[in-house]
Amino acid sequence: MGLSVITREAVLDAVAECDRLGRDRFLEQYGFERARRYLLHYGGAFYDSKAVVGVAHRYVTGRPLSAGEFSGGQQRVGRLLERLGFDVVAEEPSSPRKRLLEVLGTLRVANTAEGTARHQPITLLWALGRAAHRRPRLVPWWDAHPELRGLMRGYGQPSSNATPEFPVLALARTDLWELQGHVGPIPPAHGRPAAWLEEQNPSCGLKTWVYELVASNESARAEAVKLLGSTFFDGNIPEGLLEEVGLRRAGNTTVGPSPLETYLRLCRTVEAAEARGDHDRTTRTAREQPVRSAAAVRAVLIRSAGRCENPTCAGQPDDVTEDGDPILEVDHVQNRAAWGRDHPIQMIALCPNCHAIKTRGRTGGQLTERLLAEAQARHHAWASQAE
Ligand SMILES: [Zn+2]
Repeated sequence: MGLSVITREAVLDAVAECDRLGRDRFLEQYGFERARRYLLHYGGAFYDSKAVVGVAHRYVTGRPLSAGEFSGGQQRVGRLLERLGFDVVAEEPSSPRKRLLEVLGTLRVANTAEGTARHQPITLLWALGRAAHRRPRLVPWWDAHPELRGLMRGYGQPSSNATPEFPVLALARTDLWELQGHVGPIPPAHGRPAAWLEEQNPSCGLKTWVYELVASNESARAEAVKLLGSTFFDGNIPEGLLEEVGLRRAGNTTVGPSPLETYLRLCRTVEAAEARGDHDRTTRTAREQPVRSAAAVRAVLIRSAGRCENPTCAGQPDDVTEDGDPILEVDHVQNRAAWGRDHPIQMIALCPNCHAIKTRGRTGGQLTERLLAEAQARHHAWASQAE
């Protein structure tokens, strides 16, 4: 069958459908098996490449390909997806923790007269510290620059200039880091990128899958810090640096279920209700409305840790509700489906301002797309930690 008709847009439609239905229902509906090799890696999650391509065929031609209609096997499907600009991995890593360590292990180690260059690990430690304290994931360059510069002055190699522009751009070529809000392609890190950053002022920070992993999982964070220490600091990150970025280890033991455990339990409750068909029902009152799940709302509030989940939020109100809770509204990020799924994968906690922009703002449409991707990536980052 002709796979050549398949477009990137159709693949994204199939991915969205898989997120909407859930992996198992998606495979069952179209008669595919779980892929063991050549997985599509998108938005921090892994997808069965053959099933996604089969369903993408439907978005182009009106008819899905069945599993039996493929020739050439999974490798061919993997190559097709790569040609369309997607990331295909040979095998699904056993856990996001493992993937984080793998990616950190591939960072380029540069040398100076005094030893290993430290701009890149200092930038990452700064970002890991932000995640540990749930400070906003993305930071405008104008704000990030002075902070990083100070850290590089204090803890970089003596002969290195304090030039955060290099790691901020170089890291954007890894699966750890992103830049958002700029126009046109990211310039190469060599050359004179500072002028580009000053002019565009993009926001920069960890990708959602890394941020959520290290924010929700203290031991994954400790492993990442340790690996950066052994690779770039001869196993000895200066205490002052750890303190400044907020990564000094606290010897606390948490009592009771962690936010991660509670989140996973609530998601299981939601998914059991979906499997029973509870969410397909609607209430007929003044107008038809889908049944809403309180468990899904609670799960999203836990995931948000009291902070607006819009990655470009300009700041939420300091004031709290009468119960002392942060002022957050849990919103359904509808996209193609009429109601969307009543599940944390399509729901997001927003401060009143971001919520108003989404529903009434001039840029609401673009924001909705970004929020849907953010909700999916956050959910996948948490859900993938279930044993
Ligand atoms: Zn906000």
